[in-house]
Amino acid sequence: MLNRRSFLSKSTAATLAMLFGSSVAQKKIKAQTTPENNLISGPLVISTWIHGMAANEAAMEVILKGGRAVDAAEAGVRVPEADPENMSVGLGGLPDRDGKVTLDACIMDEKGNAGSVCFLENIVHAISVARLVMDTTPHVMLAGSGALQFALEKGFQKENLLTEKAKKRWEEWKIESKYQPVPNIENHDTIGLIAIDQQGNISGACTTSGMAFKIHGRVGDSPIIGAGLFVDNEVGGATATGTGELVMRTLGSFLVVELMRNGYTPQKACEEAVMRIVKSNKNLKDHQVGYIAVNKAGETGSFCIQPGFNYALFKDGKNVLIDSGSYL
Ligand code: ASP
Repeated sequence: MLNRRSFLSKSTAATLAMLFGSSVAQKKIKAQTTPENNLISGPLVISTWIHGMAANEAAMEVILKGGRAVDAAEAGVRVPEADPENMSVGLGGLPDRDGKVTLDACIMDEKGNAGSVCFLENIVHAISVARLVMDTTPHVMLAGSGALQFALEKGFQKENLLTEKAKKRWEEWKIESKYQPVPNIENHDTIGLIAIDQQGNISGACTTSGMAFKIHGRVGDSPIIGAGLFVDNEVGGATATGTGELVMRTLGSFLVVELMRNGYTPQKACEEAVMRIVKSNKNLKDHQVGYIAVNKAGETGSFCIQPGFNYALFKDGKNVLIDSGSYL
């Protein structure tokens, strides 16, 4: 019903291409594009990387009990946040170059409310702090020691997030201290999750410990509304993983949602958002950026710079891991 693309005349499509920039290497993209997903009815959860599988299960459980998409999104991403084996989210996340684990997270509900924390230390569930920023304050974003103070006031416990395993990786890194991005799950395994509940409402959450061995104080795309995550209940939602700087410069998740608003399928919208990055960056092989998106009709899409990005999709009662199409 909301797949407006089918109603667009050729001339409108041409105008859109002019407005949003047509993709360089369109042919190359087509060859690697994953097929468009069919419309679905009923709830859906989509999230980044393999740990999205467990996150989707937790989110779907909330939805099937009649819960709101925003509760499902929060419950879902709390799973990798608490998992010490996941080295890019919450507990067990790789530290910055000073050995400090600093977290970024944000959440958006179906009413367009948003909450976010960045540069937060010593709290496992950054997403739940972001949720409380959204629900209980007049603000959208709290940072650093202010975010920690707020969390403690709300009853969160201070914990050491640096596991022995992560500390060892940091100590190995310090030998060379090479400040260089690592493209795939070795370094980027932020969880971004979008959920559609039984009422058809859309919400999303995104949480990460960010780029490993970053400069102390660095904040990535993940807590930035519109960069790491964006949801518009009339249109759909999108979330990002990968080199945050590339996502922030193009306000990637907002871009994906706006493209969908203007008739792009989620798949084409993710491709176009990746192409914005491709057009202005030469050293692509050093970087990964992956987008996932879903529209109000339940169509999904994903695209990334290079092979290696996958995402979990729970719909029609099945939770599956899917390799994303890529530019390279
Ligand atoms: N996007 C995250 C950041 O730049 C990293 C990631 O996806 O792993 O902080």
